[in-house]
Amino acid sequence: MSFIEIKDLVKKYGNTTAINNITLDIDGGQIYGILGPNGSGKTTLLKIISGILPPTSGSVTVNGINAVTGADSIKKFLGYIPETPALYESLTPIEFFNFIGSVFNIDSATLKERINAFSSALEIEKYMNEFIGSLSFGTKQKVAIISALIHDPQLLVMDEGMNGLDPRSSRIIKELLRDFASKGRTVIFSTHIMEIAENVCDTISILYNGNIAGTGSLEKLKEEAGSNNTDLEEIFLRLTGDNDLDTLLNSLKDL
Ligand code: ADP
Repeated sequence: MSFIEIKDLVKKYGNTTAINNITLDIDGGQIYGILGPNGSGKTTLLKIISGILPPTSGSVTVNGINAVTGADSIKKFLGYIPETPALYESLTPIEFFNFIGSVFNIDSATLKERINAFSSALEIEKYMNEFIGSLSFGTKQKVAIISALIHDPQLLVMDEGMNGLDPRSSRIIKELLRDFASKGRTVIFSTHIMEIAENVCDTISILYNGNIAGTGSLEKLKEEAGSNNTDLEEIFLRLTGDNDLDTLLNSLKDL
């Protein structure tokens, strides 16, 4: 059994098909990237996996638990970071983390230990008593990541969570995710930026128009695309067969 099993998944919003019959197994203990241009269905897929959004048909299980009927159970071992995290701008990070700790009923010694460890690993100790609203984009993103990790989840889902970070923050967060996955935990994140998928993920699924165009390590995708080129850009184009190259490639770059 894979950690996440997605079977015949379809999601429609009225006449729009956002997810068009996806079947996918995701093993635990790795960093898994969903790469696709805007509108390809990434957010929809992550929300269904997280039990936030019900599918139109098909099924998803996470650790054997059905994402619709067992959404409450999944929430207990899930950390979810939406594309635009809702942070309380008028709280300080320490107040926010304490608030999350009380929601998850974490005892105060454990909570303190985790807050200290994460704030030190992500280098935000000096901002702990500043208003969240006054912090930089990268620091806010770190606050969002810590708030999603504070209850020690098995699965971390990040929607476009690696975008727009300065190189140092990006490296520090990548190390944190690597450490998290090395403990048998799972990270799934979406991105429309090829470079991020290439640099951070063990496995990449290419999502295009609600379909999976290819899945595997960079090496496996290369093989599938029949390409000797090491470039994910080339692989993406071969697997999706899209001819509107400029539009597509621009949508996959951090412009
Ligand atoms: P991505 O995260 O890759 O940008 P989304 O999952 O947000 O893709 O969207 C996939 C498709 O579903 C798009 O065509 C989008 O316009 C549509 N969509 C997403 N959410 C809604 C919604 N709440 N109502 C109607 N259409 C939606």
